Amino acid sequence: MTKERLYVYDTTLRDGQQTQGVQFSLAEKQQIAATLDALGVDYIEGGWPGANPIDSAWFDSQPKLRATFTAFGMTKRAGHSAENDTALNAVVNANTAAVCLVGKTHDFHVETALGITLDENIENIRRSIEHLVSQGREALFDAEHFFDGYKANPDYARACIQAAFAAGARWIVLCDTNGGALPAEVGQIVQEVITAGLPGDHLGIHTHNDTENAVANTLAAIDAGARQIQGTLNGLGERCGNANLTSLLPILKLKEPYRSNYEISVTDAALRDIKRASRVLDDILNRIPAPQAPFVGASAFVHKAGLHASAILKNPVTYEHIDPALVGNQRDIPMSNQAGQSNLRKRLKEANLIVEKDDPALGRILELVKEREAQGYSYDTAQASFEILARRELGLCPDFFEVKRYKV
Ligand SMILES: [Zn+2]
Repeated sequence: MTKERLYVYDTTLRDGQQTQGVQFSLAEKQQIAATLDALGVDYIEGGWPGANPIDSAWFDSQPKLRATFTAFGMTKRAGHSAENDTALNAVVNANTAAVCLVGKTHDFHVETALGITLDENIENIRRSIEHLVSQGREALFDAEHFFDGYKANPDYARACIQAAFAAGARWIVLCDTNGGALPAEVGQIVQEVITAGLPGDHLGIHTHNDTENAVANTLAAIDAGARQIQGTLNGLGERCGNANLTSLLPILKLKEPYRSNYEISVTDAALRDIKRASRVLDDILNRIPAPQAPFVGASAFVHKAGLHASAILKNPVTYEHIDPALVGNQRDIPMSNQAGQSNLRKRLKEANLIVEKDDPALGRILELVKEREAQGYSYDTAQASFEILARRELGLCPDFFEVKRYKV
């Protein structure tokens, strides 16, 4: 069976940068773009040329990337031709292979926020996309507030995106800008848009995580036929973030039915580097990596419960949904008062302490850990402390571990 191609569009450098407290320097943009490029995404949205000196310098530097470098801007204003619109010119003059323009598709926003007629807005979309195409650019239209707009006035929302498509846009990106949509309605609306004549292989999905459903909404859109997904590393984005590529890419590569049905440009080898890619961004942001992040978090494959730990040691499939090595992560079985003997012997082995199965010291060490944890100690993130405790009990504690007390 031939797989269908899914395209991955990263917006860490544009939508991700719209996060409170996040401002990338030029060097950081270069480092993030190189990381994304190595990961293998299809498009890297660089930012908004002309919006600030760093973005302008970044676009002026014409970065050499394997991915399609994309500039972001907005459709022209009413009362100006596309050729004479200053903001649109700044985006076009960035000379990127692709340009993504955001425009309104919700009648309420057109009349309230823009204060123009519904027809004028459609005309602005049409002229702006035509202008990009006439300049030889791959054009993307970001349909802002599409799902809310569609629920309020489906005919108008559809007329907006159909105008962009007819004008030559390669991709129409349906945006859940407020992040309030849920998977079932996203799936239904994408399906209705396709049925009304917009081909799925020209549709993208851009979701926000305000109901913790950005990844689920993206999958629902793929299931309904959309073929471009947008997101950011670690789900970085304003408010509750964007769709998290650090979760989506492993799902698309490893989980059914996506693994069998779709091909993405991220290779198996690149996927094994995704945890490192996630850490590169945390490092730049000076953020502590989220331990519970699916796939890449430090706790994603930690098995503390004694029952789980003993089964995992027999066969990891018992309590792991994927092999952690596939995403560059690793299994960990911490020492704690919930540990059993199998877990204990594994931790001892990691410290080069080989202890026979029936050694009575094992029971004593377990009891000691339980006693200490009842007093408030914690060993599950303190392997060295555990090792000292075990060495003492095994009679293997070198002198330098003993704390000498002197009277003064
Ligand atoms: Zn967004």
